[in-house]
Amino acid sequence: MFETVIGLEVHVQLNTKTKLFCSCPTSFAEQQNINTCPTCLALPGALPVVNRKAVIKAMRFGYAVNATVNHISNFDRKSYFYPDSPSAYQITQLYRPIVQNGELFIDLKDGSKKRIGITQAHLEADAGKNIHDGNISKVDLNRAGTPLMEIVSEADMRSADEAVAYLKKLHSIVRYLDISDANMQEGSFRCDVNVSVRPKGQQRFGTRVEIKNINSFKFVASAINYEVQRHIEAYEDGIYGDEIIQETRLWDTDRGVTKSMRGKEEASDYRYFPDPDLRPLIVTDEMIAEAKEMPELPDAKVKRYVNELKIKKVDALIISSDKELAQFFEEMLKSGASPMTSVNWLNTELLGRLNKSGYSITESPVSGKKLGELVSKIDSGTINGKAAKDILNVLMEEDRDIDELIESMGLAQISDDGAILQIIDDILSKHQDKVEEYRAGKVKLIGFFVGQVMKASRGSANPKKVNQLLRERLQ
Ligand code: ADP
Ligand code: ZN
Ligand code: MG
Repeated sequence: MFETVIGLEVHVQLNTKTKLFCSCPTSFAEQQNINTCPTCLALPGALPVVNRKAVIKAMRFGYAVNATVNHISNFDRKSYFYPDSPSAYQITQLYRPIVQNGELFIDLKDGSKKRIGITQAHLEADAGKNIHDGNISKVDLNRAGTPLMEIVSEADMRSADEAVAYLKKLHSIVRYLDISDANMQEGSFRCDVNVSVRPKGQQRFGTRVEIKNINSFKFVASAINYEVQRHIEAYEDGIYGDEIIQETRLWDTDRGVTKSMRGKEEASDYRYFPDPDLRPLIVTDEMIAEAKEMPELPDAKVKRYVNELKIKKVDALIISSDKELAQFFEEMLKSGASPMTSVNWLNTELLGRLNKSGYSITESPVSGKKLGELVSKIDSGTINGKAAKDILNVLMEEDRDIDELIESMGLAQISDDGAILQIIDDILSKHQDKVEEYRAGKVKLIGFFVGQVMKASRGSANPKKVNQLLRERLQ
């Protein structure tokens, strides 16, 4: 029996307007090398100045994951030569990073929580891009110097599922904090996976491999499962040390395998040393206060939804996992909808329709306010669920007034006692025999009567009312 051990390194691109050490914009530009200056081009004599906003964002992350935010941290140079890095080093934080010793909690399938340690989160500058064009290569430095935060986890995860749960939680938190767009396809949330296996019971970790830059949660799981299989087979064949060496590998999406990319560098290969151009990063009290301004985070939301709104934990987990989804849900409540009915109409009815048409929640043609209005009409008994579905179908196509639709589609539910009693009395007189059976103790017949009344009203009678009035009449 083997145990899998996983630690993750995630690079999050911070969503500041300007770069980490100069005032060049971080926004996308059609023209190559337009968003550059002497500093990010690494021209001799140009000096870096730290971007305050980037520091605040990293600090805010630190507070959100219950970490130590170092009031003094340092920048170091990581030396390597690569055409997209004109200085031949990257400015990063090795010896004293801004954030250390944090944690986050993942929700496991059995309903329990697991703590995953966050070793550190540090600030560093991104490199530019090499563009290979036929048989020439070009360098675009628009991205050079863009602020990144690298978040390093402890090797606390024990399966691909746990790794994906950790990544999703991290993704959700940085989106809630509004410190990154965290778009995996566009590369603003990139993940390196470290994985090893060991015989169950062994203390020491096995030899790990690192799989670089995987850009979807699904591929993270596939890459881990592929590596675990490879490691276990090497163990079982007795050739572990020959087959599994510490190295950097790449995930090949097309073939569904990992491939060796290069041997693993040691820290000494990078000749790290303190950057002499940058003084220690000292955070002020104002910065601390600003960084501590925190929105309600997913864990707190789940608690509140379950305790105060009385919705099921599984539903609370789904809704709170996504900032936009939670916002949408809260909009629904603001327009008077009950939490319970809202959950159902959001998770099943709306998300089902959005999925089918390939929209995300932010692209929903129906706003939270509007769906909330519709749900309130169900809550109050003005319309029934079937009618609400018909109305929602119309709203998906065009923005219409709900009251007007109820009117023009003839969907108003009969909740008026008098009108319903009239139908009930009619049905009861037609089925005298069944009424006697009911009174003699065959109470299951209530279902039959409800059905008949609903049918006679062509579905427009309020079923709750029908039930209640029928029982009264039958007594
Ligand atoms: P590096 O110097 O390569 O960056 P670190 O010690 O910083 O190495 O670890 C990088 C990541 O690898 C961390 O997330 C850590 O938890 C994880 N890790 C370290 N050893 C192992 C191992 N044997 N198996 C799985 N993950 C590991
Ligand atoms: Zn610049
Ligand atoms: Mg490391």
